[in-house]
Parts: sequence; C-alpha cells; structure tokens
Amino acid sequence: MERSIYFDGWTKNVHCYHPSLPMRHIGMVDDLEKYKATMLVWAAMGGGSISLPYLEQEAFGDVPPRLRFYGYMNDAEFIRECKKRGIKVYGIVFEVQGWEFPILLDGNTNSLRAFNMVEGEGDGTPNSGIPIGDGTEVADWYGLREFSSGKHDHLFPTTLKDYYPNGIINSDGEAVTDLWEETAARTYRGAAVHAGWVECPDNAHQAYQTCRNNPVWRDYLKQIIKLMIDAGVDGIQLDEAELPITSLKAGGCFCKDCRKQFRAFLQGEKAAGRLHAQWHSLDLDTFDYKQFVVDGGYDFPNDTPLFREYYEFQLRAIKKYFTELADYIRAYSREVGRDGGDIVQVSGNFFNCMPCYFPFSDTVDCVITEMESTLFRQPHWYRYINGFAGGKPVLVAENPYGGVIPELLEMLDAGKGYDLYRLMLAEAAVYGCNMSVPYGGWMGSVIKDAFYPPRALTEHFQTFLANHEKLFSSKSGAKTAIVYSWPSYYWREATKSNTGNVNRNPAEGMLFYHPTDLTDESTTRLPFWEILKDMADGGVVCDVVALGGDIPDAPFGTLCEDNLTAHTFDGYDLIIIPDCPAMTPAQVAELHKRADAGVKIILVGDTPGDNHANILRVATQSTKAQSLVAFNEIFRGLYADVATAQVLTHADRVGIHTHDGKNIWLLNYHYDAQADAITPIPALELRMKNAAKIKVHRLDKLNPYVVPEIIDVAADGHFTLPQAGLLTILEIIQ
Ligand SMILES: [Zn+2]
Repeated sequence: MERSIYFDGWTKNVHCYHPSLPMRHIGMVDDLEKYKATMLVWAAMGGGSISLPYLEQEAFGDVPPRLRFYGYMNDAEFIRECKKRGIKVYGIVFEVQGWEFPILLDGNTNSLRAFNMVEGEGDGTPNSGIPIGDGTEVADWYGLREFSSGKHDHLFPTTLKDYYPNGIINSDGEAVTDLWEETAARTYRGAAVHAGWVECPDNAHQAYQTCRNNPVWRDYLKQIIKLMIDAGVDGIQLDEAELPITSLKAGGCFCKDCRKQFRAFLQGEKAAGRLHAQWHSLDLDTFDYKQFVVDGGYDFPNDTPLFREYYEFQLRAIKKYFTELADYIRAYSREVGRDGGDIVQVSGNFFNCMPCYFPFSDTVDCVITEMESTLFRQPHWYRYINGFAGGKPVLVAENPYGGVIPELLEMLDAGKGYDLYRLMLAEAAVYGCNMSVPYGGWMGSVIKDAFYPPRALTEHFQTFLANHEKLFSSKSGAKTAIVYSWPSYYWREATKSNTGNVNRNPAEGMLFYHPTDLTDESTTRLPFWEILKDMADGGVVCDVVALGGDIPDAPFGTLCEDNLTAHTFDGYDLIIIPDCPAMTPAQVAELHKRADAGVKIILVGDTPGDNHANILRVATQSTKAQSLVAFNEIFRGLYADVATAQVLTHADRVGIHTHDGKNIWLLNYHYDAQADAITPIPALELRMKNAAKIKVHRLDKLNPYVVPEIIDVAADGHFTLPQAGLLTILEIIQ
C-alpha cells in the first residue's frame, strides 16, 4: 500500500503562501520515516508559477551556511535524501496559477530585501517607486511578467534566454514580453480570472488563473516538468488538472486560444453533421464566442446558448492537454535514462473526482484527490473514488474549505479531538484508500496556520497501517457492484443544482456533518449517488464499477472510451445499474451474459435491458425517498443472499468493508463529544461466510486476557466481536 503524506510543509502560524513551499530540512525527513511514508504529494518545487529562475533556485540553489547548520537543503537534495529512505517525492505543478509578488529592492545595491511578505511600509503600493523603510528601499513586483520582460534579471543566476533561446512566441506569432497577461484565463468581458483561493486577503500578491489551452502555457509547464525531472523527482503531480474549466464559474475561459479552438471545434462538429440545425447559419469562419456572449447580453455560463457545445469542447481540451503533459513527462523521463521501474510517475489533483477527469484517468499512475469538503463519515465517496481509480492507489488530501478541518485543527492544538483525527485517517484505509497525513497541510488563504497533527498519534496510526499492510487491499472482493455509467451521468452532474451544503448541527457535534445535496429533494435527481449513499450508510459492502463508453449516436463524438472487459464483472453476484440510459450495446450484452450465468441484476429507472428471470426492474418514483424505498424492497433480500460480511448490530455506528474478500475492516463511528472519544461497542455481532477462525487486530491494544485475539465463527457464519474500538481488522485465518 502507498502511505502518502500531504507534504506542503507550510510554516505553523503563518499563511500558507502558494506557490513556493518552505525550505526542507533533514528533521522533516526523519519525521517522514517515522510516519512510514512511501510517497509525498504536493511536496516539492512549487515555484515554477513564479518564474523558471525561481524554480531553478528551489531545486538546485545554494543553501546559506546558517541554514545548513539546521540541516536545510535544496529540493534536489531533499528528493535524494527521501529516495535513500524509500520515499517517493512528487513535484507539484500548480498548473492553474500565474503569480506576481510585491518585492522590496535595496535602493543602492538593487538586491532583494523582501519578497511576498512586504507589508505596512511606505504607502503600501508596490511598484509605486516610492522609497520606503529606511529610505533606501524601492517597492516593485516579481513574477511571470518580469521573467518574460527581463526586468530584475540580476536577481537569479538564470534568465529567459536559458530556457527560451528564441524568446516566447504565442499562437498569433507574436513575441511574448508579458507572460502573466498572455497566459491568463479570461472572462467573456476580457478580465483576467483570479485564483482567489490562494490569494491571502491581507497581501498585495496576485494570482491569475492560467489557461492550458494556450500553447505558450503548455510549453512553460513542460519547462517546469523538465526542471523537476532534472532534480530527480519520482513523480509529477499536475495540480488543478481540469484547467481552464476551473475558471467557468467566474465566467471563463474566453482567452484567445479558447476562442480559436472553440471555433475549430464547432467547424469540426458541423463537418461531422453533428452541429444542431439551429446553428447552421453561424459564420464559423469568423465566429467569436466572446462576442456572441457579449452581444447577446448573456450571463455566462447561465442559460447561455452553445454552452453545452462549449463544455464538450473543454472536456476534450482538458483530456487532450493533460494527456500531452503526461506523455511529455514519460518521454523526457526516458530521454534522461529513467525507464522501467524508475520512470517518473504521473498523477494529477482530481479534486472531488468529478466526471470531467474520468476520460483521462487512465493516463495516471495513481489518483490523488482532494475532497470537496472533508467530513468524518462519507463511505459512499470513498467507494466512488476507489471505483473511479479502477484499482490504482487512491491518495486523498483533506480540504480546509467547507468541512471539519479548521475546527479539528483548533481541537488538536488544544489537546482534543485525537480520536476524530484518527477516524479521519482510518476511514480512508477502511475503504481501500489512503488519507495523506497532513504535514504542514494547507489551511486555505485566510487562516494563518498550517496543519501539523500530533506526531505521536500520527506515528502510532501509521505504524499500525504499515504493520498490517498485508491485510490491506484496494480490491474488496465484494459480491455486490453498483455501476457508475460515465456517459449517463457526466452532463447531469455538470449541470446539477449543487448547493455544496454540509449539514451542521452543533448539538450533534461535527462528526454528524454530512453533505445534503444527495438527499435534498429539491436538488437534481442522481439515482447513482442516492442509491450508493443509502447502501454505504447502511453498511452494504460493495464496489463501484465505473464504465466509460459513448453510445453509437453520441452527440459530440467519442470522448471516453469503453473500458469494459470480459472480466469487469467477475466475482459479482449482484449488480445494480442505477438509471443509466447511456449503457453501450457491449455493456448491455455483457450484463445479459452475466444474468444467463445466474447473476442477479437490478435495473433502476431508465436503463436498457431485456426481460430476463435474473433481471429485476425498479421504477424511479416521484421523490428520492420513495425511490429508495422501492429499491430497497428488492435489493435488501437479494443482498442478504450474496453478502459475505455483514454487521448485524449497531449498523448505524459501524463502517464495514472487506479487503481481498477475506479481511474485514471495521470502523466505529460512535464518537462521544462529552468524552471526546470513540465509545467502544461492547459486543458487535457480525456474520462472515466461509470463515471458521478469525484473528483480531486492534488499533488500540486491549488486555489479551480480557478479550480474545482469536474468535471462533459459528457454522452459520455468526460471531461476536467484544469491545469494538475505533479501528479493528478481522483476519480470517481458517
Ligand atoms: Zn483559455
């Protein structure tokens, strides 16, 4: 298993300043070894979105003697030190960020006096040229713009010509002297879109969202990647992998390259006979979507004509250009002699694993993801991302926004919330994923702090995971599968009424925060999510099987190939297809083959399939709640027949999952806010098929004279686990 660390390493009680991460030192590597780390995410060389010379000094720069004294090192040295200890370091490419920072220069020597943390001096306006401080300092800016214009070339050993001997040329054939403005994502009104979530409100620095559809930015990202590989990284993480869809909510992206490429997309659709007749009169030689939106007075993206076409274009663009970068990483890795087992790995940040990432998820070696909001109890989400990853390792990072993290950090700082923190780490592992341990983890742009959980707790938990690695698997061996049909859901999800709300009831404590979108009757019907959540909350052990594929008359041509194989449904005795109208003919045929072989299949709502003794249909009812009742009337009985591992009591307090079909991982969610601890369940009754003796592995050791370490299973599969604490693994030994 991969044990990942969310290794921003930001400084405690200081803002988490993107994109450059604090200098690494040897004490950190010692911690990582204690934490049994195998890989680090968001971990090295983030400064490329300031400038390439800045990134070069992060990687290879001299370290002053005073910093050497405390074991500080540059990132290339840090990567080597981690490698010695078997820890893979992923370089982080902040793909969607382009930065400008306030600086102070010495008025006499022109050397750097302050960078980014420039405040409260003079009139506070960088670039004003007004001498401030002791009267000799000059305020100015440094970032992508100055890198491309050559201003302040004296600050670093390398300059533009070291990377671009012929200068930077854009898609109009023009020389670029302001890389910041050139590569910005733009609204339909022409304004650059800011990456507001990384700009600290009390700082003058500015981050533009950038657009990867601009070839200038893609070339620049390749320069960053090249430097990272030269510095020895084991993997490259392409953060914000969906750009420029990132800018959609702000009214983007309407940069010149998006507009050119969208026009070409429409031309292609027309040539293929797929463009709706309504648009045949458009002059596609001169069409400009920006002008179209402005002239029509639309509030893009709301109710704007051609939005579906525009979104389909962007889905294809993000797949094409993410893949181009992934290919470049592997090609350059081979070029410098790193091939086979030593090839540089590729991953992204797939955020909440929304459907837009699925068409290119086959290009990555592991799935790295942030949650939309970090909560303590979301088994449905873990099951979804595990299915999304299709067996590849899933490394999850907590997200400081919209969830429990800020409150948890305050509790941990006050010596409380220890079981909640362990629950957060444990839940991912129970469902076959890995929660990256925050190490100076991101706390957003407003909170002046970094997430450093208590070391002893982390070390204890990570040691338990490492010691029980053989009992862990990303494959559950479950007998029940629920299908996520990408073509049936991606558009519904892209346009869903999304409140993003989390139910917060202070009286119940933050363990009970839960997403309200899925059950709220006023939000979009998404039967996959409604049923998956209901099953997961009810302790059903199941897998999500994510299927791509385009139906024969796909309105915009192929985007997501069918990943079905003859073995996709091997091992499943019960398969649920929740309202999936866009199953491919091959998928429908495969399911009928399975039904012929005795597999029970439940088709919900609008899903294709013929009458068959083993195929049962459930109609969608007028409300979400009624639909779940109708579904469960059929599902529950069938599930009882096929389930291998079941919790028979306390189902509302226990999470259950199997690993490799034999080891049961159990999570006790019963947090007592008063005691600030998980309350052990005195006697938890379970059932496991095909087991005679079970060995109990507990996160918290109990007195072996009080509780047995080996439990006998009755002939009908029943057994009782005494004192079920926070995390228990049941290993079937006979
Ligand atoms: Zn763009």
